[in-house]
Amino acid sequence: SKISAAIKKGLKNFPIKEDSKILYLGAANGTTVSHVSDVAKNGAIYAVEVAFRPMRDLVEKVAKRRTNVVPILADARRPFSYCYLVENVDLIYADVAQPDQTDIVYSNALAYLKPRGIACVAIKASSIDSTKDPHVVVDEEIKKMEKLGFKLIERVDLEPFDRAHEMVVCRWK
Ligand code: SAM
Repeated sequence: SKISAAIKKGLKNFPIKEDSKILYLGAANGTTVSHVSDVAKNGAIYAVEVAFRPMRDLVEKVAKRRTNVVPILADARRPFSYCYLVENVDLIYADVAQPDQTDIVYSNALAYLKPRGIACVAIKASSIDSTKDPHVVVDEEIKKMEKLGFKLIERVDLEPFDRAHEMVVCRWK
């Protein structure tokens, strides 16, 4: 899990609390969702995934046994498509590995993130621009996030656990 990699690499601002409400974008088959669910045991995890197959595993292997996980088969680019399922959250965790991930996080923050809530974004540089130095790509994404109203708290390079990935933790306005 990229969260474990970030902790191993010295993440200081671990944003998940026992009662956190979390919007998780890019839930895949729920491997990391299950760890998040263990930590936020009295909270709620709204787990959004666009692909059917990993969502099926998420439902069967994770959500059925965990009352704090709400599986949502949807495109995170359309946050209002799940407004009837999601409440305001303390944290958006995003790991969609898409070139427009920052815009996805922003549109979901506008819809659901509490004031001064946290956005924790796993940035895969090669999914944004594979021709540039990965750190430069992440610098540019952070600048974009700052223009949109996020304030950088911390960034952690996930090498050697995840190649050319960084975990970026920001506070919402
Ligand atoms: N976070 C997962 C984990 O650690 O177990 C791995 C996530 S994987 C890198 C990225 C996932 O994001 C894929 O399952 C993909 O289908 C999903 N995804 C990509 N674009 C998406 C979108 N627009 N909306 C929701 N999910 C998306």
